[in-house]
Amino acid sequence: MEINHLLKRGVDIIKDREYGNPVLEATLLLGKLLNVDKVYIYTHGKDQVPEPIVDKFLELMDKRSKGYPIQYILKEKEFMGLDFYVEEGVLIPRPDTETLVEYVLRHIDKNYKDRLVNFLDLGIGSGAICLSVAHYRKNANVYGVDIHDTPLKVASINKERFNLDNVKLYKGDLFKGIEDLGLEGKFHIIASNPPYIPKREIETLQKEVKDYEPVDALDGGEDGLSFYRRIIPESKRYLQEKGLLIFEIGYDQGKQVKDILMDNGFKNIQILKDLQGLDRVVFGTKN
Ligand code: GLN
Repeated sequence: MEINHLLKRGVDIIKDREYGNPVLEATLLLGKLLNVDKVYIYTHGKDQVPEPIVDKFLELMDKRSKGYPIQYILKEKEFMGLDFYVEEGVLIPRPDTETLVEYVLRHIDKNYKDRLVNFLDLGIGSGAICLSVAHYRKNANVYGVDIHDTPLKVASINKERFNLDNVKLYKGDLFKGIEDLGLEGKFHIIASNPPYIPKREIETLQKEVKDYEPVDALDGGEDGLSFYRRIIPESKRYLQEKGLLIFEIGYDQGKQVKDILMDNGFKNIQILKDLQGLDRVVFGTKN
């Protein structure tokens, strides 16, 4: 079958999906299977596609039509200008999270220009936060912790992919992952995008998320705040004086997380908005 015809069949299979971009998704998938880029696909419409690839392409478009995320099919998601490898078992990086990373990069330049800065990320997933900080700031000494094996495996793949030698990854439940390393009082910055969706709201999320993304990376307990309640008090042992604690939050959790920070003595608390104008990041400093 010719590229043009196959592409059209693919688009027809997925065109009714609510969250997606059928032409782009079909083009990227066919490009991946043929090992060419999307410009090649657009400019070689008359090329014949080998039968096994036709079958594979239609099978994967069918999977996509049932809500399976395109990023898990392509095994890739761009974040902060880096192409992260992703697979089932890690949350797909979201553009909203770039708000947090961009603040961290500015904070490093403002306070630690050309000085070593110890950075910890709790709950790394694919490594979107910790690896982009490590990539863009070579003076960052980066630690990442996750409780599950798949994120640790995926983040290691990405660490290799981006050639980073300033990152160490540990397995454990939040601070337990680094508790024996003598790092108390050593961190200039601690960041986390913890699970923050209230348990009963998970069912209301789009199919792509609720059926296929790891529920452990979404479920923040009854009110969505359980990880903030754990991380905020425990972080004080690991932060330097004036160290920064920064979180991604749900759009309606700004006030509550701010209150938990205040109750724990954090200062300079601020909320940042994402590109849609919604509250998305909260941070404060230890004293
Ligand atoms: N932003 C994600 C979503 O809306 C949730 C991520 C999280 O819980 N940390 O699906």
